Amino acid sequence: MTDAADLAPIREAVRSLCADFPGEYWRRLDRERAYPTEFVAALTKAGFLAALIPEQYGGSGLTMTAAAAIMEEIQASGCNGAPCHAQMYTMGTLLRHGSAAQKERYLPGIARGELRLQAFGVTEPTSGTDTLSLRTTAVRDGDHYVINGQKIWTSRAEHSDLMLLLARTTPREQAKSRTAGLSVFLVDMRQARTNGLTIRPIRTMMNHATTEVFFENMRVPAENLIGNEGEGFRYILSGMNAERILIAAECIGDAKWFIDKAASYARDRVVFGRPIGQNQGVQFPIARAYIGMRAAELMVREAAALYEAGKDCGAEANMAKHLAAEASWAAADMCVQTHGGFGFAEEFDIERKFRETRLYTVAPISTNLILSYIAEHVLGLPRSY
Ligand SMILES: Cc1cc2nc3c(=O)[nH]c(=O)nc-3n(C[C@H](O)[C@H](O)[C@H](O)COP(=O)(O)OP(=O)(O)OC[C@H]3O[C@@H](n4cnc5c(N)ncnc54)[C@H](O)[C@@H]3O)c2cc1C
Repeated sequence: MTDAADLAPIREAVRSLCADFPGEYWRRLDRERAYPTEFVAALTKAGFLAALIPEQYGGSGLTMTAAAAIMEEIQASGCNGAPCHAQMYTMGTLLRHGSAAQKERYLPGIARGELRLQAFGVTEPTSGTDTLSLRTTAVRDGDHYVINGQKIWTSRAEHSDLMLLLARTTPREQAKSRTAGLSVFLVDMRQARTNGLTIRPIRTMMNHATTEVFFENMRVPAENLIGNEGEGFRYILSGMNAERILIAAECIGDAKWFIDKAASYARDRVVFGRPIGQNQGVQFPIARAYIGMRAAELMVREAAALYEAGKDCGAEANMAKHLAAEASWAAADMCVQTHGGFGFAEEFDIERKFRETRLYTVAPISTNLILSYIAEHVLGLPRSY
């Protein structure tokens, strides 16, 4: 399903659901730094978060293009997909690399909304972007692994039943290769909370439900290891293209929201006896933001099409995320400028969306790391780190 006409009903259904969650809802949560439980429940009930789970496990079995359209529409409606976007892509690691028993055990529950797989524990405070230097260890002890260490920026950990966790199972110096020795676990956080897991919320500039998590002799059944021990880095990488494409689609939705808001305000706001949008100094930044958004949108579509055709889309997914994050941030800045003082007023929602969309040039991967990926893997330049 790739053409616009096929996706129109999905887009319409998402918009109609989002209409029940207007600006006041998000403003209240933002003030309280509270989790949008009702919004996430509504998306789950409607099946949108199970878009990429195959039908045999109770999901909708939709394409990446359709999933991207869902995330885009959420953002374009003024809502925020960040409290739940991981549920869409994190399960891909389980789907592609989990055993038949693991998939049967978890995917139908996730699809029905009974199990939340929202937490993704990769980043650590000391190693940051240098994932291969992470320090959390998982040591085999009989039919369990014992996990010790710390993660940071583990978003939604307080609102998730399961966490996909990357930990080192072979000391770096003993690993077969630079990328070997890391493993992926599906951690049942409901059990772990009384078994060595501590979660501490981190308050951020936007309402993001992010946390730091600590593992102290946390025991995870060996049957929760995903795939083969030591190959976890590859499994996590294989899920990153989906993550990049979906977050890029969210940025496109944000950009559309900012551009709509700005164009509408510029048409209506009269200063010096004429609409401000009659001034080219106001028009041009809106037009520029629109052009940037449309160009980024093409790359998102190309990346999604390659992904669903089973082709390598590493470069396109990275470029899509980069262009879309830049486009949404440029549109956010333009929107504030177009609104003048009102761009800063809470009730216009612009300052909230401005703070929310700022994240995406940093996470899930920062601009520099994308540029270095393209430099090295596409342009053949020497590896810089
Ligand atoms: C709100 C929020 C939510 C997040 N959610 C999650 C989550 O759910 N799960 C998870 O695992 N992680 C999550 N992250 C982590 C996020 O993916 C990282 O913050 C991001 O990848 C950047 O890593 P870092 O913060 O460690 O920065 P660092 O690696 O410390 O880098 C700092 C800066 O230096 C630059 N830099 C570093 N090395 C180089 C180099 N060799 N060349 C050029 N520039 C370089 C980076 O680009 C960056 O700008 C989240 C982060 C935030 C802020």
